[in-house]
Amino acid sequence: MAVELLLTGLQVGGKRKIKAGESVLSDDELCRLARRQGGVVDARVVSPSDVETAAWVRLKCRFGCDGYGQCLVCPPFTPEPEQMRKVLDGYQRAVLIHCDRQADVKATVADLERSIFLRGAWKAFGLGAGSCYLCKKCPVEEGQCRHAERARPAMEACGIDVFTTAKKAGFPIEVVRTERQCPNYYGLILVD
Ligand code: SF4
Repeated sequence: MAVELLLTGLQVGGKRKIKAGESVLSDDELCRLARRQGGVVDARVVSPSDVETAAWVRLKCRFGCDGYGQCLVCPPFTPEPEQMRKVLDGYQRAVLIHCDRQADVKATVADLERSIFLRGAWKAFGLGAGSCYLCKKCPVEEGQCRHAERARPAMEACGIDVFTTAKKAGFPIEVVRTERQCPNYYGLILVD
């Protein structure tokens, strides 16, 4: 019901009407919303055209990650970099979030995606970091996710070069060389 109201541009919360195509959240509001989430250190609105995709990212999944093929939000089940480029090019704005090591990045992007969607951005879609641990064992052979409303792919699983994307946005990111080094985690919510 709430979704229908938002998509048809009727009264929302008794305050004002949302017209089709109208951005209901300013850049500042998007960042404030993101920073309110636990574990989010900082957030910046970026142009999806500045989100870098590259063919080599897939090699790192295929030949460097033991999660490859182990869950439905990881390669080979996720979009190839070329497909992801087309997806990114269909958006005007995205929010890049920088998270601390305690954050559950995937849960955070799922929560943010929902919050942004419910404010009228019907294209909102979140991308997190790492594999999915929502189920004890992912039923990859069935090909059907059990928590499709919450399970989101990682940026890197869709061919996004997270290093270059974070650096372009002015965020810190480095190769993690020792266990004592604190990694930087990122999530991305495509907005509108
Ligand atoms: S939620 Fe469960 S079924 Fe879906 S991708 Fe994650 S582990 Fe697999």
